[in-house]
Amino acid sequence: MTKLHIINDLKDQDKIQILKVPCEPFNFENPPEDPLELTKNLIETMYDANGIGLAANQVGLNYRLFVMRGTEDSGDFSCFNPRIVWLSDEHILLEEGCLSYPGVVVKIKRPRHVRLRFEAPSGETITHKFTGITARVIQHEMDHLNGVLFYNNANKYYRDRAFKNRHKYDVGQTQNILQKNISAYL
Ligand SMILES: [Zn+2]
Repeated sequence: MTKLHIINDLKDQDKIQILKVPCEPFNFENPPEDPLELTKNLIETMYDANGIGLAANQVGLNYRLFVMRGTEDSGDFSCFNPRIVWLSDEHILLEEGCLSYPGVVVKIKRPRHVRLRFEAPSGETITHKFTGITARVIQHEMDHLNGVLFYNNANKYYRDRAFKNRHKYDVGQTQNILQKNISAYL
């Protein structure tokens, strides 16, 4: 397994552009990389950074792919070519952080439940309903794959406040936020 470098806006201004354009589908007919190996590397990188989700373009790979922590029962998720096929009318306001924007913690309102269709590393198509933290992670990672920066989904007040307070958070504090707010650090 290989730990990959996560692009962040403070240190990698030259590479950050990849986070602003939509990713390309992963071609299982002619895979550019071994999907299982790719999954392992992304999951290792996510855990190493204390993340709960990580999109391929955050490590400079232009694939529609993200990984996400699961439960002991489900195991971790690796979602290739994911598509949201349903969103709930019910919304919830939660704080989100992002490994590519260290220290930026912003409240965002999003649907509470989501149904996702994606391909597993084996190429098998899976459709599954997610709720709570996983539903939130999925929507954040889908933004990444669509070249959308997560904080642009927040209202201006919360967004401005998050950037103003950014310097207040060091790594330790961000860890506390992770523990207190289930959606921190995606
Ligand atoms: Zn993110």
